[in-house]
Amino acid sequence: MGGVCALVGESLQPLFDCEVVWRGDRIVEIKGDSSGRLQDVERIVLPSFINAHTHIGDSIAKEAYIGLSLEEAVDPHKGLKAKIISGASKNDLVKAMRSVLEQCVSLGVTHLIDFREGGLEGLSLGREASQGLGVDLLLLGRLATPPSKDRILENQGFTDSELEELYKVCEKGEGLGVSGANEYSDKMLTQIREVVRGQNKLLAVHCLESHETRVRLEGVLGRDEFQRCYNTLKPNVFIHMTDATPLEVTYASSMGVVVSCPRSNAALGNGFPPLTQILGCGGGLGTDNVMVNSPDMFREMEFAYKCLVATTRKPFQRVEDILKSATVNLRPLLGLKPLEADAEADFMVLNIGELRPFWNLHSLIVNRAQRENVELVVRKGRKLYEKPASR
Ligand SMILES: [Zn+2]
Repeated sequence: MGGVCALVGESLQPLFDCEVVWRGDRIVEIKGDSSGRLQDVERIVLPSFINAHTHIGDSIAKEAYIGLSLEEAVDPHKGLKAKIISGASKNDLVKAMRSVLEQCVSLGVTHLIDFREGGLEGLSLGREASQGLGVDLLLLGRLATPPSKDRILENQGFTDSELEELYKVCEKGEGLGVSGANEYSDKMLTQIREVVRGQNKLLAVHCLESHETRVRLEGVLGRDEFQRCYNTLKPNVFIHMTDATPLEVTYASSMGVVVSCPRSNAALGNGFPPLTQILGCGGGLGTDNVMVNSPDMFREMEFAYKCLVATTRKPFQRVEDILKSATVNLRPLLGLKPLEADAEADFMVLNIGELRPFWNLHSLIVNRAQRENVELVVRKGRKLYEKPASR
């Protein structure tokens, strides 16, 4: 088919006049020319989005955070989010999550790495919500009831029944999602690490979401939030790193991967992450709480690009790095490949006919593409979404 351009490999290299052939769940062959004219491109085939950090559990509480601080909104003990969720029926929670997941699919997302509250029951509700949609909802669970503050300050460990619950939650999901080092003692962080390592699963943590979270327990425990995450928890995924120095981003990226959520950081008044460094280290992008943000990776990318330029006050040439953070950077962590022969057939097709003429292909997707441009979304060779034909 003429006019098709595919963004292939880790570098999202354009291949013009392209044909993508897939059989079953895998791509068999990608044919095309490395040079071509931008004005002839009508459709773009690109790897589907990996939304690297979400909390779809608060889909029931959209926009409830307005006027609240980070702690007032999402504190696991006394935040408004916890109150709304505990007061909602299971049916309503599942319905709200399912409708968000359907929206995600129509926005080109095939994988979400989700922080799942509510222990084992929370995992079951998440599974129920995603049933049959074909989207890969990777659930990182936690205990149903977080430990009390005094137990943290006394450096107590988990009780046997808590440890058993953690083990089961990790086993039933794809790993554990730690709401923050401030919510656990050093002994507990070590125990969490051991549970996840024993099962060889994912361990993610909110880290340095703000300067306040960095220093909250530093005076009492002698180490700040980053030091406790890096030296004791040792996760695969550091989420936020809004208050991180460039050196801390480098350290975190040598241990795992950094995922930033710039719209969430902005909405909750936490600043803007050191995105140049995070992108340089191959970080990912996530939309965070549905309470705060739409799960729209197009919006996340545009916001990330423009705020990066605004905060650094310098032009930023490598706009493809933003697109990589939304599509290919997190694939190795999930055992997946970019668009290439023998990779899983996970991709989307954008119809960009109406957006022509333009001068930069990657930037067109980052700054202008939106839901109405998504024509087709495929995961493992299965069509998850096809844009209805216009009348
Ligand atoms: Zn989060």
